[in-house]
Amino acid sequence: MADTQKINLLDLSMDQLTHLVMAWGEPRFRAAQIWRWIYHTLTDDPGEMGNLPAGLRQRLLEETEILHLPVVATSEADDGLTEKVAFQTQDGQLVETVLMRYTNRNTVCVSSQIGCPVGCTFCATGRGGFVRDLTTGEITAQVLHFAQRLQRENAHVTNIVFMGMGEPMLNFDAVWQSVLNLNDRQGLALGIRRFTISTVGIVPGIERLAREGLAVGLAVSLHSPDDRMRNQLIPVNRRYPLARLMDAVRLYIERTGRRVTFEYAMADGVNDSDEQAQATARLLHGLLAHVNLIPMNYVEGAAFQPSSRERVLRFQEILVQAGIQTTVRVTRGADIQAACGQLRSLLADEQEG
Ligand code: SAH
Ligand code: SF4
Repeated sequence: MADTQKINLLDLSMDQLTHLVMAWGEPRFRAAQIWRWIYHTLTDDPGEMGNLPAGLRQRLLEETEILHLPVVATSEADDGLTEKVAFQTQDGQLVETVLMRYTNRNTVCVSSQIGCPVGCTFCATGRGGFVRDLTTGEITAQVLHFAQRLQRENAHVTNIVFMGMGEPMLNFDAVWQSVLNLNDRQGLALGIRRFTISTVGIVPGIERLAREGLAVGLAVSLHSPDDRMRNQLIPVNRRYPLARLMDAVRLYIERTGRRVTFEYAMADGVNDSDEQAQATARLLHGLLAHVNLIPMNYVEGAAFQPSSRERVLRFQEILVQAGIQTTVRVTRGADIQAACGQLRSLLADEQEG
């Protein structure tokens, strides 16, 4: 059978895997065994699945694959604490993923799409256009790559953030299935609270997240407290203006009880004034919220420059005085173009070079 027709086991839910093995005449518990090999032992070779009968191993080898994506480039920053990997998909597209090591956690920043259809003006991914959604297996493979890496050091992936390339809420099904697969107790068993989905504000996605009833973390890329400015920065704000966005956020908080993070990338002279800080405080008043201020990373061709440190601290002061928890995010990986919104531009450079 040609490779292209093989079933990628990383695309399947536990239920689907169970159906597959049962359709092959195997007992149900074989699915759990296979699952454990893939997501707990972290093997990608069915030949190693020692507790399976030889016939089943053979069939897995012939008809399925555990599709890890080949690494085509890696780079490090922050003294090796940040590492970016570029993977190649089977159709020759590049996907970037970043591992950030902290004292008590290892966070993987995953991509959900190749490019992004939203087209935010300040974002390298958005400026590069949209190619396609990633599959569940392609999203999962990004995490498993680093899980295997850390396993060799006796360490683990502890957190996952959907802050790489793409808008996760526009690829909800694949993103959600990868969350469920990585959360499954019989495998990687990553706690549901350790996932964070970052969205530009796709209202139906936030509502769906609220309805799922699992306390996956939510980060909203706010970047401006008023619709006029936000329309300019984030075209999709015309479709989902702030009033609707905030209603969806309130629903999420009500259903999950979790605090929402608002990302605010500050561009010099654009969205960083005292008035905008006050308006942001009013918008978020009384909400279970946390603001993350980030100086906007310069992206080639974009008209934005990062706000000064002084401006960022002043903005923070206004929010804090208004009772809104606010941190200034230390950007990781700026020198390897691994920081937010920079992923796609470097890839394009590499491909052209
Ligand atoms: N599409 C999702 C998640 C991917 S982008 C979203 O927009 O939320 C991850 C984060 O990087 C978002 O908060 C996004 O606004 C931010 N970002 C994009 N370009 C940036 C830039 N040039 N500087 C700083 N942050 C940027
Ligand atoms: Fe897409 Fe997010 Fe970039 Fe906007 S900021 S273009 S939504 S990846």
